[in-house]
Amino acid sequence: MKYRAGFVSILGRPNAGKSTLLNALLGTKLAIVAPRPQTTRTAIQGVLTLPGAQIVFVDTPGIHESSTLLNKRMMDQVRASSEADVVLFLVDASVHFRKEDAEALDLVKKTGAPAIAVFNKVDKLREKPKLLELIEQYRALHDFAIYVPISALKGEGVDVLRKEILARMPQGPALYPKDHLTDQPERFLAAEILREKVLHLTHQEVPHAVAVMVEQWEDTPTLLRIAATIYVERPGQKAILIGAGGASLKKIGTLARREIELRAGKKVFLQTFVKVRPNWRQDPEFLAATDWRGMVGQ
Ligand code: GDP
Ligand code: MG
Repeated sequence: MKYRAGFVSILGRPNAGKSTLLNALLGTKLAIVAPRPQTTRTAIQGVLTLPGAQIVFVDTPGIHESSTLLNKRMMDQVRASSEADVVLFLVDASVHFRKEDAEALDLVKKTGAPAIAVFNKVDKLREKPKLLELIEQYRALHDFAIYVPISALKGEGVDVLRKEILARMPQGPALYPKDHLTDQPERFLAAEILREKVLHLTHQEVPHAVAVMVEQWEDTPTLLRIAATIYVERPGQKAILIGAGGASLKKIGTLARREIELRAGKKVFLQTFVKVRPNWRQDPEFLAATDWRGMVGQ
């Protein structure tokens, strides 16, 4: 059999489980996940290299209305990622069809690429007929290549989905070296892990106001030394983040450090600072500096 290689974009409304699916398809965590919209702020590549094929998955920010410059940049990234050999249109099967789904579907139609309708979170569905209804609803909206129910969280249906994707990859040589896993630098991943812990431990407007910048990264064979700043937009948010006696920030730092240690396979010394930066979401320079593409000068 000839070698196959291609690009697969994961599109869908915020919170549908796109990042969870990327991680499940690759069998490793590359994208942070949180129970709230707009967790993913930049397109993230994850490369799956198999004996006869290489699939480049692109996780994208959820499709939503743009208001801040940050949101506009996020949607630019989604549009830029929508050129693919196959598009995965991710539906949250546990909630009703909404405007965001319609917007995501419009983009899928525009790509013109074969699209697989993926119905996620089926573990939350008690009644099977609901799923069939939903599939019929989507069938009427677009001519999808196939309809696949999955639970990205539990890993159900993910093997089937991977096979269906593989069968639709064009023939061609590998696009990246065999051991290449992602386009994100390790220091960006570390910043993302820290941001994920913040998202899990804060509520309301705080998560949206948070950005993380790694200021120091010193990697030795036995120790990885990281200093990172967590930015928020208002003094009140800083107080929440730090918590009484620094308890909240300490918890966030400990959780992040443990996860970075597992990834790095060595001891990590993580120092965290919190700073207020009003309106960073509207600041082009700051946005470039916190996106890894800005960090590496791309
Ligand atoms: P994204 O915004 O589309 O990238 O969504 P995430 O991957 O960040 O997931 C959003 C939330 O949905 C998180 O709390 C996930 O744990 C949860 N989630 C994702 N997939 C599933 C699933 O198959 N079943 C259930 N029950 N929850 C899921
Ligand atoms: Mg995501």
